[in-house]
Amino acid sequence: MFARTAFARTSLRFSPAACSRRAYASAPASGPKRSNVLVYSAIAAIAGGAIAGGAGYYYYSTAGGEAVLGPPEVTFKGDGEWVDLQLAELALVTHNTMRLRFKLPSENHVSGLKVAYMLPKAAVLTKHQAPTDEKPTIRPYTPVNDEDARGYLDLVVKKYDNGPMSSHIFSLSRGRSLSFKGPIPKYEWAPNKHEHITLIAGGTGITPMYQLMRAIFHNPEDKTKVTLVFGNLTEKDILLKRELEDLENTYPQRFRAFYLVDEAPKKPGRATQGRVTKELLKKVLPEPGSGNNKIFVCGPPGMYKAISGVKNSPSDQGEVAGLLKELGYKKEEVYKF
Ligand SMILES: Cc1cc2nc3c(=O)[nH]c(=O)nc-3n(C[C@H](O)[C@H](O)[C@H](O)COP(=O)(O)OP(=O)(O)OC[C@H]3O[C@@H](n4cnc5c(N)ncnc54)[C@H](O)[C@@H]3O)c2cc1C
Repeated sequence: MFARTAFARTSLRFSPAACSRRAYASAPASGPKRSNVLVYSAIAAIAGGAIAGGAGYYYYSTAGGEAVLGPPEVTFKGDGEWVDLQLAELALVTHNTMRLRFKLPSENHVSGLKVAYMLPKAAVLTKHQAPTDEKPTIRPYTPVNDEDARGYLDLVVKKYDNGPMSSHIFSLSRGRSLSFKGPIPKYEWAPNKHEHITLIAGGTGITPMYQLMRAIFHNPEDKTKVTLVFGNLTEKDILLKRELEDLENTYPQRFRAFYLVDEAPKKPGRATQGRVTKELLKKVLPEPGSGNNKIFVCGPPGMYKAISGVKNSPSDQGEVAGLLKELGYKKEEVYKF
């Protein structure tokens, strides 16, 4: 499944100045963290509806031993209410991408994105209306921190020229607030739902993919194999590099990532120059109809058009078109975020 000779892995490091370890230490390091093991044990023990809405008991290790926390409060309840969250920390991760940490209403709040069976499958919406705007701008974002983290929510946001929401988010300073609501349901995941998944991402399209990867790799029960094809303009634009590298190092038999960049990489052996082509997909994808596999696509509008066909609406996936159709994949084998 992972024998892909033509594509080299990049080294996946944020510059130290770009992203402080203290602020963003939520990435997995070596295997499931103790807290996760305990959380998933708790899930097994509490089977079913009692934990719906994310209200399970959580455990964490402290210097003095293990402390037990009570049930967390849920920030986003799916009730349509907007919640203002204060910006606590921010760090530039590339020339046009920022990582931002928003404070949840209290230290005991979780986002509430683990909606069914504690598995994340959701985005949040942000809203902003400048005094001169006739109507508010509303956009979806996928948080990149662990869903069971209490007290905060991390976003990675890329700035688009003249993009109203990303420009507004980039203008925020510490202490300012942004309106959020959610969760917005996306693909419902269950452990081992598929034997193998391929994630085809462009730019910030990596964020829902990373959410899915975290759900898989943080669960010791889930043995799904994952291939990531990640396209960007330049190597500097590759988001979540350190987090992806940690996953590759921790799960070399189950996770492979291939990086494509429009601009020639500075050093050989890192990302490969070029776009996602039919030839590449033939090499990395399981044969159409060959097993319980799924292909996920998330990226800019042009990427959907070329690779999978566009979605008709948030609730209508539309037909499979583009390269995936040419290669023979059927609608049920493809999901467009
Ligand atoms: C499920 C989902 C999750 C998302 N999660 C994230 C996230 O975690 N972080 C993040 O930064 N963005 C994410 N996005 C994209 C985000 O919702 C906004 O579309 C983006 O921030 C641009 O908003 P804007 O108002 O600034 O610009 P817009 O007015 O929406 O767009 C400005 C220009 O940029 C183009 N454009 C818009 N989005 C993209 C894109 N993704 N790639 C390339 N060109 C684009 C538009 O075609 C337009 O020309 C997500 C989108 C979806 C559907």
